[in-house]
Amino acid sequence: MLKDKIAIITGSTSGIGLGIARVLASKGADIVLNGFGDCSEIKEIRASIERHHSVRVIHDGADISKPAAVRRLIAATVEKLGRVDILVNNAGIQFTSPVETFPVEKWDAILALNLSAAFHGIAAAVPPMKEQGWGRIINIASAHGLVGSTHKAAYVAAKHGVVGLTKVVGLETAGSGVTVNAICPGWVRTPLVEKQISDIAARKQISQQDAAAELLGEKQPSQTFVTPEQLGETVAFLCSSAGDQITGATLAIDGGWTAQ
Ligand code: NAD
Repeated sequence: MLKDKIAIITGSTSGIGLGIARVLASKGADIVLNGFGDCSEIKEIRASIERHHSVRVIHDGADISKPAAVRRLIAATVEKLGRVDILVNNAGIQFTSPVETFPVEKWDAILALNLSAAFHGIAAAVPPMKEQGWGRIINIASAHGLVGSTHKAAYVAAKHGVVGLTKVVGLETAGSGVTVNAICPGWVRTPLVEKQISDIAARKQISQQDAAAELLGEKQPSQTFVTPEQLGETVAFLCSSAGDQITGATLAIDGGWTAQ
């Protein structure tokens, strides 16, 4: 389905981004991985995706919290692979604190990576996508792009920003063959959430398993984690012809979290 398409997935050396990369590769897309990590592990991830799916996979370790670096990531992809068809703005970080003690540098870092990187990536990717008359931009927002929670001022502000950005660029590209959508996952068990589970376990002196159940119990009616594969399949659906008229939209994949 995605043979000869080139997909950039930011933050794809781990968690949700890696799950999305694997699913898009399974549909035939060539993949640009981005993100940090151990060199040999990244090499192994690349090789295993290439082996399993017979697609080209490259890794670009750009620190996309830097505006010039994210724009360069798009330009370098066009230079190396000839085009960019799919951009998944996924990289993100979390930090929790009450607003009055929220460290300014954490606020700046979260806004830079979770919101501004998507802006810069989109600004650089829209012109070549418009020119070729086809493109898919998928922003990984969050249930926290639709509702708030305590102690997550920067994250919730950034993710609401991503939802707003999605609507504006969806309007600006309407009719051009480019679509822009946001996916809002509930809890997915990745390193980003594992830390929050460990914090609950330590604070309440309970097991990791009980802490995970508590995390789900508080927000996610299905009581079940969303998986990176389910999110990857949703991205693939948006890249299919069924997605041609879906733009500026926000899809909650959250076990009922935001239906409450
Ligand atoms: P993760 O920590 O497993 O992965 C984050 C990825 O981003 C890694 O590949 C990391 O190397 C990369 N990264 C971090 N800083 C970077 C930078 N400066 N430049 C380039 N890459 C960088 O996290 P995850 O849970 O897979 O989260 C992925 C996205 O999904 C984030 O935007 C997150 O907000 C969102 N999300 C996660 C959940 C969840 O429950 N895990 C829920 C909703 C939304």
